[in-house]
Amino acid sequence: MKMSEHMDWHARAAAVHPDGRALIDGQRVAAADGQTFSCISPIDARVLAQVARCGPADVDRAVAGARRAFEDRRWSGQPPAARKKVLLKFAELLLAARDELALLETLDMGKPVQFSLKVDVPAAARCIGWYAEAVDKIYDEIAPTRDEALALIRREPMGVVGAIVPWNYPMIMAAWKLGPALAAGNSVVLKPSEKSPLTALRMAELALQAGLPESVLNVAPGFGSEAGEALALHPHVDAISFTGSTRVGRRMLEYAARSNLKRVFNELGGKSANIVFADFQDLDRAATTAAACMFFNQGESCNAPSRLLVQASIADDFVARVVARSQDYAPADPLASDTLMGALVDQAQLATVLGYIESGEREGAQRLAGGTRVRAETGGFYVAPTVFDRVGSSMQIAREEIFGPVLSVIRFENEQQAVAVANDTSYGLQAGVWSSDLNRAHRVARQLRAGTVHVNQYDEDDITVPFGGYRQSGNGRDKSLHAFDKYTELKTTWIRLD
Ligand code: NAD
Repeated sequence: MKMSEHMDWHARAAAVHPDGRALIDGQRVAAADGQTFSCISPIDARVLAQVARCGPADVDRAVAGARRAFEDRRWSGQPPAARKKVLLKFAELLLAARDELALLETLDMGKPVQFSLKVDVPAAARCIGWYAEAVDKIYDEIAPTRDEALALIRREPMGVVGAIVPWNYPMIMAAWKLGPALAAGNSVVLKPSEKSPLTALRMAELALQAGLPESVLNVAPGFGSEAGEALALHPHVDAISFTGSTRVGRRMLEYAARSNLKRVFNELGGKSANIVFADFQDLDRAATTAAACMFFNQGESCNAPSRLLVQASIADDFVARVVARSQDYAPADPLASDTLMGALVDQAQLATVLGYIESGEREGAQRLAGGTRVRAETGGFYVAPTVFDRVGSSMQIAREEIFGPVLSVIRFENEQQAVAVANDTSYGLQAGVWSSDLNRAHRVARQLRAGTVHVNQYDEDDITVPFGGYRQSGNGRDKSLHAFDKYTELKTTWIRLD
């Protein structure tokens, strides 16, 4: 770890030549028609690699391979203890490749390398390892029926899972799908985001090296409207596990309806409310956390507490503290070991974020910090941490997910109003409540329509707890044992006992 922290990441970055070919049927291959796209680093806009632009023909091949592997039971037929061994090895190889993966992740999507090293690689490895450990400890059920019959309720793998993931935590999002899907015995075709395809390809190579049989895991990089659509429409895909925007999640349901009614599990966007009551006794900690959780990962987190609801009586003081803490996140070189905020993923995301900032100003919110592109001389896509105060709940910056470093502060008078404003959203991913009154904290937590509610903190996280949302933040859950629900079918076998 120490060595990594003091590494000359620039020298290593200059020497990186990622392999952008797809991984289908155990082989690194070009797209069938030879097409590629340029993978551009948001750090300085340099081209990192030419990546296979997979289309329907490539997806067909990947799905056929995955289907063959599932049917011949080369993986699904292995005992859980054997699958566990391979996946534990996979987790070990991820950790062994920590520096290489962290650098690729940072170059590909712009986050500070210290977080790729300390958060992304270890979290991905822990996820794979955790599901490996779980799979030989889960028992099936026998139903409490009458004596003359026996009903066995078994979980069986779904078959071929299409996993479509976003670019904000490329390795972690892939691991949240691969861990439970592979542990349960499925075959997988993974479609990483076109904005960050590199680590998924390398992860799949390491899975093969760990002993995962060929064709059980395939990676088909490409664009959403090409590779993604082909995968989600494919008649031989049994389930789609999607993480991404609500707009595209809606399409997943349409694709399923238009094809084979495959199962669709959506992990979508959020506009999470973080509610600070005047009675909370450690306002410094609340302000530090509000800024840290907002600006971590450049604000590109689905669960970012992007609506800060502050009780009016402390609002001036509290918002000043948040603004002060936001200065810690001034964007800097993602390859420097002490940088807290890096580059937005690409030029399009930069334009989107700047567009929302303009909209906030147009609609009359009061900008207290940030608001501009910075470090433009690097060629990269950086935006200063931005705080808007006096945001109205009907403003665009209060309603829409910005997915960038922009915090909207909404002031409220009382508890009832706080709950109403917090729930006045089409999303329901997460929420936060800060109060030193236990009864209030609990009362409010119960009323919030969100998959996760944080009380007097916002940063607790563990693979053991489910992650997912209410309403248009999705359905189903990633992480924890609940994730197996997405990757298994329940089968009942009735046996007559004479
Ligand atoms: P996106 O929806 O644009 O893309 C996600 C994936 O879907 C990408 O791989 C993309 O290529 C693919 N895709 C796009 N259009 C498609 C189509 N028509 N058919 C099939 N596939 C298609 O999202 P994004 O910009 O990559 O990611 C940001 C979004 O992800 C945010 O909304 C964020 O909140 C959400 N997210 C949610 C979670 C969660 O767990 N709830 C976690 C991380 C990110």
